[in-house]
Amino acid sequence: PSQAEIQRMLEAARTKYESVTEGKNADYIPALAKVDSKLFGIAVVLANGEVVETGDTNAPFAIESISKVFALSRLIEDKGAADVEKAIGVNATGQPFNSVLAVELNQMNKEHPAGNPLVNAGAITTVALVPARSGAERWDRIKKTMDAFAGRQLSVDEEVYKSETATNTHNRGIAYLLQSYEVIKGDPSEALDIYTRECSVSVTARDLAMMGATLANGGTNPVTHQRIVSPDTASHVLAMMMTGGLYETTGTWVYRVGVPAKSGVGGGILAVVPGKYAIAAFSPPLDKAGNSVRAQRAIESIVQDTSGSLFAAR
Ligand code: GLU
Repeated sequence: PSQAEIQRMLEAARTKYESVTEGKNADYIPALAKVDSKLFGIAVVLANGEVVETGDTNAPFAIESISKVFALSRLIEDKGAADVEKAIGVNATGQPFNSVLAVELNQMNKEHPAGNPLVNAGAITTVALVPARSGAERWDRIKKTMDAFAGRQLSVDEEVYKSETATNTHNRGIAYLLQSYEVIKGDPSEALDIYTRECSVSVTARDLAMMGATLANGGTNPVTHQRIVSPDTASHVLAMMMTGGLYETTGTWVYRVGVPAKSGVGGGILAVVPGKYAIAAFSPPLDKAGNSVRAQRAIESIVQDTSGSLFAAR
């Protein structure tokens, strides 16, 4: 479809779904509960860098779990896909993103206790494994990777960071449990702090779509032309998003939409059609699993309108 056709699709989806009132903002992180629930933006960035957008695409919001995709990109690029598979695991847990039960079941069944890099246990482990001489350098490497994907310097929302740090006792439990199983060998509180920071990075729907377009384009940012990760890294990251991007409802998502995606409790969802485009939608109210209700519907309709499912015969 042409840019004008995509523009019409985005506007039609926004008009259709802006009146949906299901779901509610994440409230276990107090700062997220206060975000305007009416915000709704949809952005597409084509693999050649062209941008199409509608609605609140310049409204900043916390990237939350979508940051896991970019920390994973850093780690696969540094260590290789096979090492990451061995050190963290890559299978869906079928449990909520912050499940302690998943860690315990995997440990009991001699699977990887961390689950996979897109659940909290695996994402905290991802951070701990990023090669660096210090925590400061580790954070810097993850943050610079996120910036490079976006093609601009992103900032940390200090209010979200403080709010999440003050309330993340459950994640703290996961980090120390992983230390007890010798999955995290360094300081678990340092890994948790860096993880919390990466989740507090502020993005717009447009930024997210640009970050996704870098994956759609094989790891090279289509606007800055900087190669951030290799095509091999990008394809492994997308495969992980396919099996674990929308928490325990990833199967439903893939069945309905047929493309890899990642959601965050800030209300963002990023979906990628490899080689073609990325689409990001943002709207704070979440379903029970933690996925933005309006963002899921908008992305589903646009992927269908563009025949984007990876399972469509071509
Ligand atoms: N920082 C959030 C947490 O660890 C991210 C959760 C999410 O977006 O799924 O609880």
